[in-house]
Amino acid sequence: MLGRDHALSGALTFAALGPTLHVTGSHLAAGVILTAGAGVLPDIDHPDSTVARSFGFLTQTFAWIVARISGGHRHGTHSIVGIAVFSAGALAAGRYQLSAPQLAGHAAFSWHLVPAALYLALLYSAALRAVHVGGHHGDLLGIGGAVVTCYTRWDLVQIPLAGWHVPLLALGTALGCAAHIAGDELTHGGCPIFWPVSEHEFHLLPRALQFTTAKLSESWIIFPLLTGSLVLAVWHATGHPL
Ligand SMILES: [Zn+2]
Repeated sequence: MLGRDHALSGALTFAALGPTLHVTGSHLAAGVILTAGAGVLPDIDHPDSTVARSFGFLTQTFAWIVARISGGHRHGTHSIVGIAVFSAGALAAGRYQLSAPQLAGHAAFSWHLVPAALYLALLYSAALRAVHVGGHHGDLLGIGGAVVTCYTRWDLVQIPLAGWHVPLLALGTALGCAAHIAGDELTHGGCPIFWPVSEHEFHLLPRALQFTTAKLSESWIIFPLLTGSLVLAVWHATGHPL
């Protein structure tokens, strides 16, 4: 699946769950964008992917290292272990951010903000790059958005979920990665979700309905479906009846 469609599917997942999670306003906007970014995050195992190209050679080198550790493209980062590692990393960055000193309810500058700010900048920039917004200016927009989010602490808002309270940053990461893996499971490639225990590639569709990345079916069926559904989900999540 193309980066563009992965980002849209991440955004759609968060927007569709928005009313259930009771997320509105600026938290909804931050959640939709960061989940769109997390929707391309698992492809950080490929140096030519959208997310790997976000910050040039820095992220491409990181992607090369991730590919070595995770067994290559569409392996470890496209499994349950991958979702758990990305979510745990986001949770840790959020915890560290939460321990920063505060001024009148907003974050004061502190090194405690740096991991979450860098992570958010990566997600926002990757999301904008994936949907072809802004080019290099999109990266600057992503960095600006990350600074605003850290300052206002929108990413730390606690979402009630099955008796737990999960920070938006970690929930968006988990949902985006899960949407990515589901998207790749619609293609002929599939995903080894039980890696490293099993290399078996799982699919969500029978072979006849699976599609190949970047072929006409993705542009003429998947992309319009995702775009239309995202518009409807955002409309509904912002309090309008369907
Ligand atoms: Zn992928």
